[in-house]
Amino acid sequence: MAKRDFYEVLGVDKSASESEIKKAYRKLAMKYHPDKNNDDKEAEEKFKEASEAYEVLSDKDKKQRYDQYGHAGMEGAFGGHGFTWDDFTHAGDFSDDGFGGIFEHLFGGSFSGRRGSSRQRNRGEDLQISLSLSLEEVNTGIEKKSKIGVKDSCDACNGTGSEDGNVKTCTQCHGSGRVMQMTRSLFGQMQTAVVCPTCHGEGKVIKNRCKKCSGEGRVSTHKTINVKIPAGIQEGQYIRLRGEGNRGLNGGTNGDILVHVKEKEHDIFKRQEADLICEFPISFSQAGLGAEIKCPTLGGKVKIKVPAGTQSGKVFRLRSQGLPHVNSTYRGDLYVKVIVITPTKLNSTERELLSKLAEFDEDKKFYPSKGFFNKLRHFFA
Ligand SMILES: [Zn+2]
Ligand SMILES: [Zn+2]
Repeated sequence: MAKRDFYEVLGVDKSASESEIKKAYRKLAMKYHPDKNNDDKEAEEKFKEASEAYEVLSDKDKKQRYDQYGHAGMEGAFGGHGFTWDDFTHAGDFSDDGFGGIFEHLFGGSFSGRRGSSRQRNRGEDLQISLSLSLEEVNTGIEKKSKIGVKDSCDACNGTGSEDGNVKTCTQCHGSGRVMQMTRSLFGQMQTAVVCPTCHGEGKVIKNRCKKCSGEGRVSTHKTINVKIPAGIQEGQYIRLRGEGNRGLNGGTNGDILVHVKEKEHDIFKRQEADLICEFPISFSQAGLGAEIKCPTLGGKVKIKVPAGTQSGKVFRLRSQGLPHVNSTYRGDLYVKVIVITPTKLNSTERELLSKLAEFDEDKKFYPSKGFFNKLRHFFA
């Protein structure tokens, strides 16, 4: 099924303000919340669809990319795996506007039973790093190593958090770290998962806590990660390394590492999506007589025939000499703008030759069309 337009999903105009977008999403979230729909699959899908739309349209960068390129621009925005609830970053946005813990309930507890309460709650934190790439590296794709500070399993207690191995499952919550409690909310009476008061959410009781990690089961350390960067990646995109982030607590899953891509400025080329642009200086005589120039590309030099009578600023397009698109064999183009350089230091021979040339200026044969002079005259009239 074709993906619906995000504005259509939220039922707002393209020019909708931040608060209008938030309001529209809030309305849909209320309508399709699983608690109001008896865990109806279709409602759940609608809820997720609206949440994805909101995730994109409430983020300045993502929204801009979506406005410009549509769904195609969102490829890779959620780590290439498509939108999941892990990508939803606005759960906290609605906690204090009377919306009342809608996501707290959702993410902490019983969202269709898909998310084990303590496992998700105790998920390790995501870590962010950025890598700067040269255009040459973007062109070929590259594997890079990076050192990062991370919370990993404590070696003193093997991650158990216990000095002597005496760890018992909490009897009140049976290890989940959460207990159900009846609360009042916008939707009426409902069961909400709250932190277990006995074990404070840990799901277990440790008699003698490990001295090195204070019972957390994890310590700060460094590790080296390998990041595979696909050819054609762009600044602003990121790569998600699943499970490489901070270790989860109490059996929770590990967080991820998000590798944000930055682009180094290139001496010669400017990038526009997959296309490259550069300027190439040619001499007055090359422009007048025509010449064959050797223009640099990211893959070596390429010959360009500059025809006689080429004007400064003329752009030559070299097909498929730009950058690759991510996961595609299609490449962008290279645009070469030739700039005619006016000589600044002349030796006597050159000066003599140019003076000879100047004698023909009267004929105006070097200048553009007659129309140009007519316009000029008109301008100064
Ligand atoms: Zn320890
Ligand atoms: Zn407990």
